[in-house]
Amino acid sequence: MAVARRRKKRRKRSDPGSGRQGSARLALVLVGLVGVNLYVFLWRGDTSIPEVMERASVADESELGARGLAGLGLGGGEEDEEPARAEPDPEPGLEIREDEIASGESIERVLHDAGLSYSDALEVIESLEPYMDFSAVRPGQRYRIEFDEEGDFAVFEFEVSQVERVVARAGEDGVEAELVESDTEVRIEEVGGTIRNSLYVSLREAGEDTSLVSFFVDVFAYDLNFYVDTHPGDTFRMIIEKEYLDGEFYQFGDALAAEYSGAAGTFRAYRWQKPDAEQPAYYDEKGRPLERSLLRTPLKYTRISSSFNPRRMHPVHHEVRGHFGTDYAAPTGTPIWAAGSGRVTRRGWAGSAGNMVVIEHDDGLTTRYMHLSGFADGLRVGERVSQKDVIGYVGETGTATGPHLHFEVIQDGQHLNPENMELERADPLADGLLAKFEEDVGELQPRLAEVPVRSGWERVGYALGALATTD
Ligand SMILES: [Zn+2]
Repeated sequence: MAVARRRKKRRKRSDPGSGRQGSARLALVLVGLVGVNLYVFLWRGDTSIPEVMERASVADESELGARGLAGLGLGGGEEDEEPARAEPDPEPGLEIREDEIASGESIERVLHDAGLSYSDALEVIESLEPYMDFSAVRPGQRYRIEFDEEGDFAVFEFEVSQVERVVARAGEDGVEAELVESDTEVRIEEVGGTIRNSLYVSLREAGEDTSLVSFFVDVFAYDLNFYVDTHPGDTFRMIIEKEYLDGEFYQFGDALAAEYSGAAGTFRAYRWQKPDAEQPAYYDEKGRPLERSLLRTPLKYTRISSSFNPRRMHPVHHEVRGHFGTDYAAPTGTPIWAAGSGRVTRRGWAGSAGNMVVIEHDDGLTTRYMHLSGFADGLRVGERVSQKDVIGYVGETGTATGPHLHFEVIQDGQHLNPENMELERADPLADGLLAKFEEDVGELQPRLAEVPVRSGWERVGYALGALATTD
């Protein structure tokens, strides 16, 4: 059978769980970062990582970013970006129908129009159901149908995405289907640059490489406040996986190592999976986890609208009432995360605080979240939450002059200033593990240090190695 000659491909999926989660996380922060970028431009008016990264991506690989977004499911793939396929030579007497889904057409319709009986079409559809979402079928997606010498149905093949096809084949025991994924080649590449003044217009226009910006903001969020601590002359370095499909950039994979260096200090991150951990995490060069017990900012905010100030004049009541938390302005509906793992002790209406969530953490720490427009589905008092779980959404319920999160941190009855509170790092790796960590990331350390950081976004352009899987 013709289709059997087609090279069966598989994507490299050495680390499927974290890869998928990584993409989802990138996609999530991407949305927030449009706001961050606007903020950086509107409120700072000088240089930022987003500007530098973004400008260079427009300058030298504009198509790259668009594909990167498509890979994250955030951009529209274009028809001419169909991956080239090795088309098998049709066998004599074999009928092949090849086309794309027309507007308003369903796969069922396509099969009927091709002459399949009702029961054959149903069998094909049932076989494909575990592998694809029929409600997501869109005009322009390609398919092919093959019939054997007797004119009976043989194969139905449908392109689910740039990298996935489903194939249903008639066999002795009825129709059997499978999902075929294309091989993407993973190259480990270096990225480095220096922050400097730059054009903000391109930043707003494209924003494609904000997925990398979000990586920096996310990974160094515990150490560095990207809203205030980044300055012209700061440098960044990165060693990152890039996935290529048929030789063209498809999407970013995992960042293996990164460094940000500036007036605020030098911060490094190495991706490493502890032997008993469910997924990899980032550690500094001394093997200390970068994550801390609490997030300073439990949301992607646009600006701080009111800082912690025990002697503040109240904006609504016009008297000194003190402000015992930080107000983060953000659009209504912006997700709010649990600042740390803990137990929900309150969820509901609380007068001038509006909709409020209170979480108790270890070590006598409590966090409060006020003025929410709503709570996360299923959030209940008594429930345990993990750091970065969504607990609710920004709103302006209770006494508020605009949508914002009022965030409070209380330690043993004392309010702390979330913007400058001292945060505990998670424990460093024990000696045995540290040796393993150093062995695993040791090679990356000198390599990271040598990534060039000439001005602007330098795509060094040479691959350090190709890790594509082979069949
Ligand atoms: Zn407030």
